[in-house]
Amino acid sequence: MTQSEHDMPLIFELSSPGRVAFSLPECDVPRRPAEELIPSELLRSEPAALPEVYEVDVIRHYTELSRRNFGVDNGFYPLGSCTMKYNPKVNEDVARYAGLAKIHPYQPEESIQGALELLYTLQNDLAGLTGMDAVTLQPAAGAHGEWTGLMMIRAYHESRGEHRTKVIVPDSSHGTNPASATVAGFETVTIPSTAKGLVDLDALRAAVGSDTAALMLTNPNTLGLFEEQITEIAEIVHEAGGLLYYDGANSNAIMGITRPGDMGFDVVHLNLHKTMSTPHGGGGPGAGPVGVKQLLVPFLPKPMVVKNEDDTYSWDTEQANSIGRVKAYYGNFGILVRAYAYIRTYGPDGLRAVSENAVLNANYMMHRLAPYYEIPYPGVCKHEFVMSGRGLKQYGVRTLDVAKRLLDFGYHPPTVYFPLNVEECIMIEPTETESKETLDGFIDTMIRIAKEAEENPELVINAPYTTVVTRLDETTAARKPVLNCACS
Ligand SMILES: *Cc1c(COP(=O)(O)O)cnc(C)c1O
Repeated sequence: MTQSEHDMPLIFELSSPGRVAFSLPECDVPRRPAEELIPSELLRSEPAALPEVYEVDVIRHYTELSRRNFGVDNGFYPLGSCTMKYNPKVNEDVARYAGLAKIHPYQPEESIQGALELLYTLQNDLAGLTGMDAVTLQPAAGAHGEWTGLMMIRAYHESRGEHRTKVIVPDSSHGTNPASATVAGFETVTIPSTAKGLVDLDALRAAVGSDTAALMLTNPNTLGLFEEQITEIAEIVHEAGGLLYYDGANSNAIMGITRPGDMGFDVVHLNLHKTMSTPHGGGGPGAGPVGVKQLLVPFLPKPMVVKNEDDTYSWDTEQANSIGRVKAYYGNFGILVRAYAYIRTYGPDGLRAVSENAVLNANYMMHRLAPYYEIPYPGVCKHEFVMSGRGLKQYGVRTLDVAKRLLDFGYHPPTVYFPLNVEECIMIEPTETESKETLDGFIDTMIRIAKEAEENPELVINAPYTTVVTRLDETTAARKPVLNCACS
C-alpha cells in the first residue's frame, strides 16, 4: 500500500454541509409527513450526524476500506488449524443460480425438489467421506457442530438412564472443544500429551470412568500429528461407556485416505468453510455439519431431508427423540451449495489428491524451514505443522515479532501461540491450493526474517512498516471494542 492511501481522509473529514450523494427530479407523488407514519416518540428531534458527501466519496471510502482487508484472494494465508484455502469461483457461480439463490425456505416441497436432492446428496456424501451413518447439515459453524454433537451424546446417555458429566480433551485441543463441552453442560477434564505430542494413554486410562460422557479428539491432532494408537484410544473410551467425538474442522489431511468412522469415532463435525473451500466470511455464514453413527441417529436435529419411495424428497419432521432444531430453517443453504459444488467438481479421486497435496506441501515447508526454526515434533507431519520461535529469544525477538514482520511482505501470518503446549509456537498450514513458487516465496521470507532477527533484531521488533496501523492492542480491541467512528 502506498503512503498516499494511508493518508486518505476519513469520510467524516470530507463532509460539507448541504452536499448530497444524489440528484433526482423532484418527486411528484404526494408525500405523507413522517409524523403520520411513525409514532412521534420514535421520531428523531435532530437529523443523524452523518457525513454529507458526494456519491463518489462514499464509493471511494468503502472501496478503500475493502482494500485494507486481507483475504485469501489477496495473498497467501497459511493460518494453522484454519485451512484458509482458495475458494474456487465455480462454487460461487453455482450458488448464484436463480433456482438455488432465489428460493424460499417456506416454499412447498414439490417446488424445491432440486434443492432437497442437493441437500440429501450432500448429507450422504459427507457421511461416506467420514464413515458415518447419517449427517445433519444444520449447524452454522464448527463450534456449533461440536455443541450439536455433544447435545446428542447427552441425549443418548440420558436415554439409557446414565448420568455422565465429563468430557475429556487433550491439552492440545482447539479452544472450542472445552468451550462447547461447557456450554453443553459438561465438565471438561484435560489430559496431557506425551513428549511425542500424542495422547498419553496412561493419562487417558486414569481419566475415564463411569462419569465419562465422551472424549473429544482431532486426528491428525493440532500439532499436525496422526494419533497412531487411535483404535486403542477408542477401545479405552468405549469400554468405559463413553463415546468418541471427532473434531473434523480441518479434514484436509484425511479425505479419501482414512475416515473417523473407521477409527472408532461415533460423532464428527466438519467445517465446510475450511475443508470444503467455502468462504469463512469474516465471521459470517459457515457450515459445521455433524455426522453420527447409528446409535445417535434418533437424536439428530430435525428436520432431516429424506428420500421417499417414489424418489421424491421431503422434510422428516417426525423424529420423536430429536434434540430439536439447532438453526433457523435448514442451515446456511448457500454455503451448503458451494460445498456440494466443490465435492462434485473434485469427485472421490480429486478429494484424495487434495489431501495428498495438502500433506505434501506442509512437509515440504517444514523440511525447508527446519534449519532456521526449531521443529519440536520432527518426522512426518500431516496437513499442518508447528515450529517454535524459541531460538530467536536470545536476540530479543519473539514469535509475535516474526508474525508482524511477515505483514511487510504481504503475507497473512500463521497461527501463533497455539497450541498452548509449544513455547513461542508458530503453526503453519499451507494448504493444497498454493503453487510451489508461492510456497518458496513464503519460505524464503521466513528464512530472511530469521536472519534479520539475528543481525538486526530492531528491524523485526518494530515491524510492521507498510500497514495502515502498526502494533495494535489486540486484547483491548477485543475486550473493549469501540465500534463507532472516533469522530468526536
Ligand atoms: C476452526 C476450528 C474449530 C471451530 O470452528 P468454527 O467454525 O470457527 O466455530 C474447531 N476445531 C478446530 C480444530 C478448528 O480448527
